[in-house]
Amino acid sequence: MHEMGLAANIIDMVASELDKRGIAAGRLRAVKITVGKMTQIVAESLKFGLEVKSGAAGFGSVDFIINEAPLKVKCGACGFESVLERNAGCGELNMACARCFANQPRITGGREFSVDSIDIDD
Ligand SMILES: [Zn+2]
Repeated sequence: MHEMGLAANIIDMVASELDKRGIAAGRLRAVKITVGKMTQIVAESLKFGLEVKSGAAGFGSVDFIINEAPLKVKCGACGFESVLERNAGCGELNMACARCFANQPRITGGREFSVDSIDIDD
């Protein structure tokens, strides 16, 4: 469960950011995070980890808003860009281009992992 370690890193980062700006930990209200679908990070587990770790860091009731960035590919043959969805039936990804059916996808989105914003109570 590497989400717990990631959660600890995010909490540390947010705590030091607040500290740098002289903002009390208790004033933190929300943290917005983007997690790409290609990162193998389970958003629900990350959220759980953040909730566990935020109490220990002295934060009050903080909303962790996790935005999942879709997996995007660009076809290596024709340049067509598309968002890949898992096949609802078998869970497999269809990597072939929807326009020319070439199987040369280049991943252009879905590897994101970032803290986008921090909301402070004022
Ligand atoms: Zn194509």
